[in-house]
Amino acid sequence: MNPIISVVGTLTALTLLWLFFRPPFGRNIVHLNTNQRIVALTYDDGPNPPYTERLLDVLAKHNVKVTFFMIGNRIEKHPETVNRVIAEGHQIGNHSYSHPLLGFLLPPSVRREIERTDALLQRLLRSENPTGVFKVDEIVFRAPMLTRFLPVAWVLAKGDRAHISCNVWSWDWTTQNPDKISKTVLKKTLSSTGAGSIIVLHDGKAENKNANRSGTVEATDRIITALKQDGYQFVRLSDASHQL
Ligand SMILES: [Zn+2]
Repeated sequence: MNPIISVVGTLTALTLLWLFFRPPFGRNIVHLNTNQRIVALTYDDGPNPPYTERLLDVLAKHNVKVTFFMIGNRIEKHPETVNRVIAEGHQIGNHSYSHPLLGFLLPPSVRREIERTDALLQRLLRSENPTGVFKVDEIVFRAPMLTRFLPVAWVLAKGDRAHISCNVWSWDWTTQNPDKISKTVLKKTLSSTGAGSIIVLHDGKAENKNANRSGTVEATDRIITALKQDGYQFVRLSDASHQL
């Protein structure tokens, strides 16, 4: 093949791949825009009783509010857990309805996955959130496995909606050893880029409806204790909306 055609073909393929996996439009929030010692703890893939409840006990002990990115079909299954999360002042975000690899679906399917969980949350927030701590039109969204690929970015951009990513990965989906989880999170959060970190942990597990998350619960206790000693404060994403 003509070498010029071959080079042009390769460059075009790479550009298309880059466009698909790293769409250069829309907003992808990786951390809070602050230099202060503020972090946002976020928990994906719940609700997952009894671990979500145990986590709520730990958070209440420390008087820390966090953000839960919940899966729609689990919200339907465990409304009592969701109601407790709301009653205790935590924020709930949308983590799709059935946790597919969203970035590989066509835009209409992406939209359905997001809208179905939006509708569930709007109903719950209207009935269980009489003080209006969270506005129903401000439901934050995070794609399963952070697959903010072209179809997801497109649907979100059309709705003028940001994608909430993270800059600190706990890797708690690979281990439930509280030592490992807390050390991983603290090392990354206390590094020079730690201020404004969005930390991702999991109170559930997408592919296992009864996943044991006791390691994440125990690690949360240690993470909060250590970060508080270092002068860090904890916010829900709604508290930091001006820093998103
Ligand atoms: Zn997830």
